[in-house]
Amino acid sequence: MLVLVKVTADAQARARLVAMVAAEGTDDAPDITPSALGPVLCLPDTHVSAAFVRKLERDPAVERVVSVDVPYPLASLAVHPARTVVRVGSVAIGGGSPVIIAGPCSVEGEAQIRAAAREAKAAGAHLLRGGAFKPRTSPHSFQGLGLPGLELLARAGAEVDLPVVSEVMEPGMVEAVAEYADVLQVGSRNMQNFPLLRAVGHLGRPVLLKRGFAATIEEWLLAAEYVLVSGNTSVILCERGIRGFDPLTRNVLDLSAIPLLRTLTHLPVVVDPSHGTGRRDLVVPLGVAAIAAGADGVMVEMHPNPDSARTDRAQTIGPTQLRQLVRQARAVHAVLDAADDCLDPAVGGDHRELAADRSL
Ligand code: PEP
Ligand code: MN
Repeated sequence: MLVLVKVTADAQARARLVAMVAAEGTDDAPDITPSALGPVLCLPDTHVSAAFVRKLERDPAVERVVSVDVPYPLASLAVHPARTVVRVGSVAIGGGSPVIIAGPCSVEGEAQIRAAAREAKAAGAHLLRGGAFKPRTSPHSFQGLGLPGLELLARAGAEVDLPVVSEVMEPGMVEAVAEYADVLQVGSRNMQNFPLLRAVGHLGRPVLLKRGFAATIEEWLLAAEYVLVSGNTSVILCERGIRGFDPLTRNVLDLSAIPLLRTLTHLPVVVDPSHGTGRRDLVVPLGVAAIAAGADGVMVEMHPNPDSARTDRAQTIGPTQLRQLVRQARAVHAVLDAADDCLDPAVGGDHRELAADRSL
């Protein structure tokens, strides 16, 4: 249940409303949070009696009470039909044209990240990625350069005028990473690190939330809900593949998640075919396929000299492949857009929604 709070309600009226809800004895002490719908209070439906709903509706601080049948009301498209566009500097993710995020798995040193930044920019990428805090399966593997690496990333991005994306692994590091990163990445292994989700939520910086490699779509949207309920409306979902059984690919890239998410959430969706496949030769085709399936962008691991990449070498493309990806992604997007323009405008919707309708 969502209680939409009047924007005009002053601090006293809001405090009274929160106290009234707390006195009703719902689970946690709920708080009013900013959302794409304005200030809201989220309550678990099961705990709210019809009499209490009427009481809420009469409260002068309350605009409207909305009953929702999804566990992730703030992320839900049904509750919030206007699609979210996440802005990072002058880049709009979810704004209609495909956004390309490229850069190495790890920041390895100044020369490497500066060369990667130049290549990413020259290829037409919109954001530069680079890991400085690396979630490695083995404690004996390279763990990333840490804060000095982040500083190198930020400088390399600034030099070519590209905002930067980097991973943060622990709540206590969120503010430090945000000193350098324009977008905070929450990695697959941390998708259900709830204190981390709340910490990036409180900070308000755009968040790239990767899908846990064994997470259902609903668990993923509930992870996004943690960020949203903490007051941060700038969440980008990133499909990065889920565990399969075939050792020929690292993961199974779930492209069905893209049109499915279109029906469930207003949040933008990007796809990472690098971790999604684990194979350099599959990155461009799967990246293009993601755009064809309606993704708002693609994130790829690109190294100026991929064969020397310190981490994730097998799935890292070079500058030539990145240029190919950008060209093909733009071409596919333009063709689909043009095909949409030929459709009867009365039918409405974008090509993905139309495609979904037709399959019914
Ligand atoms: C990454 O993008 O650097 C990364 C570690 O990805 P994931 O969390 O999807 O494994
Ligand atoms: Mn990687």
